[in-house]
Amino acid sequence: MTMPSVEPTLDREATLAALRSTVARFASEEVAPILSEMDEREVFPEATVRRMKELGFFGLPIPEEYGGLGLGKTGYCAVVEELSKVDASHAAILGAHTSLGMTPLYYFGTEEQKQRFLVPAARGEHLMAFSLTEPGSGSDSGALVTSARAEGDCYLLNGEKIYVTNGAEANVVLVLAANDVKLGPRGGITAFLVEKGTRGFTVGRLEKKMGLHGTSTAQLLFQDCAVPKENVLGEVGRGFVVAMTALDVGRLSLGAGSLGGMQGA
Ligand SMILES: Cc1cc2nc3c(=O)[nH]c(=O)nc-3n(C[C@H](O)[C@H](O)[C@H](O)COP(=O)(O)OP(=O)(O)OC[C@H]3O[C@@H](n4cnc5c(N)ncnc54)[C@H](O)[C@@H]3O)c2cc1C
Repeated sequence: MTMPSVEPTLDREATLAALRSTVARFASEEVAPILSEMDEREVFPEATVRRMKELGFFGLPIPEEYGGLGLGKTGYCAVVEELSKVDASHAAILGAHTSLGMTPLYYFGTEEQKQRFLVPAARGEHLMAFSLTEPGSGSDSGALVTSARAEGDCYLLNGEKIYVTNGAEANVVLVLAANDVKLGPRGGITAFLVEKGTRGFTVGRLEKKMGLHGTSTAQLLFQDCAVPKENVLGEVGRGFVVAMTALDVGRLSLGAGSLGGMQGA
């Protein structure tokens, strides 16, 4: 399945130009004034994130039938670029939610999962995060050891995740865990949609960083966290493909963000 692309018609060009100017105005009038305090206090910018939701930024590439604006990856990248001219934190919050959270849901979710998780995320009612990295598994992401053991109607997740953007605030986290650690990326990793408040799931320490002070970079802890089997995203054992798909779209928006950052410097 491909995400609808933006046709290069005059209408679309005009829509993108209008979108860019909306974002530029929002960034200069509402984001720029809060930056020094946000950076100083290292806090998640709740009020401006709420405004991004109201402006529809949380569902940019997602088709309208699932609560988004249907502006494709082109529209999404244009917004990330414009935001990044003024602030990387707002762009990173949006990027983790969109590229890493919603995109795999759109590609791999069942219709029921899309209605339950994608529609509220695209409407801005839910914030999403993506949790792959572990203390012993960064670049070598297939070496993750957080375990997922089937028990009755659930999988029990146990382990420690780190560096999760939006991890402290997200309503739903896409978590990668090992259904069979010996198989690794070839059949041993599964993707789970874990809701905030699920018993056994807690947010741990927040990293102190040199930049991106408006984003949380969180440790997530799972202790016999019971995730219903219907929250498996994609097939059991095929989670590495889900994760790599998310990261592919993440690279696209990181490129757009870097471009905006350079233009704004
Ligand atoms: C601000 C921030 C936000 C993040 N957000 C998320 C998130 O939302 N979700 C998530 O799951 N993760 C997130 N991460 C984690 C990120 O994906 C990892 O930091 C990344 O995968 C690298 O892993 P690592 O930090 O363990 O570094 P390592 O893998 O230990 O790498 C350290 C250095 O060694 C080099 N290196 C590694 N392997 C090799 C090799 N085989 N040969 C040569 N050089 C090598 C690397 O290039 C790097 O320079 C975030 C990280 C940061 C800093």
